[in-house]
Amino acid sequence: ALVVRHRMISSRKWARGLAIVKEFEEKCGTPIGKLRQLADAMDVEMHAGLASEGGSKLSMLISYVDNLPTGDEEGLYYALDLGGTNFRVLRVHLGGKEKGVISQESNEVSIPPELMTGSSEGLFDFIADALAKFVESEPEGFHPPAGRQRELGFTFSFPVKQTSIASGTLIKWTKGFSIEDTVGQDVVGELTKSLEKIGLDMRVAALVNDTIGTLAGGRFYNQDVIAAVILGTGTNAAYVERAHAIPKWHGLLPKSGDMVINMEWGNFRSAHLPLTEYDQSLDAESLNPGEQIFEKLLSGMYLGEIVRRALLKMAEEAEFFGDTVPPKLKKPFILKTPEMSSMHHDTTPDLKVVGNKLRDVLEISNTSLKTRKIVVELCDIVASRGARLAAAGILGILKKLGRDTVKGGEKQKSVIALDGGLFEHYTKFRVCLEDTLKELLGDEAADTVVVELANDGSGIGAALLAASHSQYLGVEES
Ligand code: BGC
Ligand code: MG
Repeated sequence: ALVVRHRMISSRKWARGLAIVKEFEEKCGTPIGKLRQLADAMDVEMHAGLASEGGSKLSMLISYVDNLPTGDEEGLYYALDLGGTNFRVLRVHLGGKEKGVISQESNEVSIPPELMTGSSEGLFDFIADALAKFVESEPEGFHPPAGRQRELGFTFSFPVKQTSIASGTLIKWTKGFSIEDTVGQDVVGELTKSLEKIGLDMRVAALVNDTIGTLAGGRFYNQDVIAAVILGTGTNAAYVERAHAIPKWHGLLPKSGDMVINMEWGNFRSAHLPLTEYDQSLDAESLNPGEQIFEKLLSGMYLGEIVRRALLKMAEEAEFFGDTVPPKLKKPFILKTPEMSSMHHDTTPDLKVVGNKLRDVLEISNTSLKTRKIVVELCDIVASRGARLAAAGILGILKKLGRDTVKGGEKQKSVIALDGGLFEHYTKFRVCLEDTLKELLGDEAADTVVVELANDGSGIGAALLAASHSQYLGVEES
């Protein structure tokens, strides 16, 4: 009897539920005209951010990378990748043009959640410790000759104001991190302190954002790579700018004429962004209210949470899951984007996967097919909006570079290296992004733009940049 009562949603409540879904869908709308406005706004903000420090929500950070890998990089390097919920240590043997990446070994460690909001020392000690353990397992062929330091490329995926290729201060934390005493500190200094404490002699040769690492890694394999985009826990983009087009850069004009820019597009904001009440409350209750608004609409940390908020509203106002609100549904971040993705991709006729996820993750059982279908619809609304916004962002970069149209029949290729779990694993998200970008560009220009998965480019990229900024370059050849 209980089950039966549970399933019976009055038709009035059901209609209320449908109205909530419909309103949500409308508010999330991203018609092509709106996406074009957003791409234009992105282009405008890019100019503003390049013009002056603090001139835009886009900080357009100077990376100090003015040369991307050529393929000649050689030697043994370490890399460290800190950004999402996991961090990785890598050891890479680079063999130059002929041999490419000879070998690569890595180890992934998950960061205890309490360290993400604890003290700077706690986090960097933990990282240094994991790195030291990894170095202990170093094969003999990897040992540096006497007197030579090991060198490291440090991928640190947060906004940093670089003061050189190997130093920079943290502007703010993003994603799930919030450690007050690191803000304003040189993160290389913080890491180095922890390394010294445990007696690990290693020099940070390059400090890079994950977008910069991905761009460098992408360029190593394909010289047509001009930009990199991360769609993972967070989101961001980097691209190759002409140094003379950066008014706020007062340094020497690099020989290459280029400077790679870390856009920090996660912080993009525009009146054209389709924000809903769920996005507003998610932001207000987040670790960084008012910040990273673009990121909160489209990155992996938030998509599942937006769906949870919509479902909660359905439960509260339309008895969507029966006459009580399932307690688990009230827990922020309980619905992770990978779970959302598996529900969204459910191809079983009775949406068994959706039913199982609702049961296992949210402790909601006995859902009807009708209910499950709506859950899938909500996933689709949230994922499509995110993917389409990401496509608009990419169009903005192409516009800034004058690569959004084909000029004079000249078919110059533009490759964009994409990385991050969201892009890699959430197929419907990826396909929607690619389709939308094609639609925005039109057939002719779409032929010249390639979006390429640069799986794990940022680790190799950091090692490559460490190699090209090694203190031993030109000093010694072995
Ligand atoms: C950070 C960026 C980073 C991106 C992807 C954002 O939250 O601000 O620096 O590139 O996440 O990891
Ligand atoms: Mg990453």
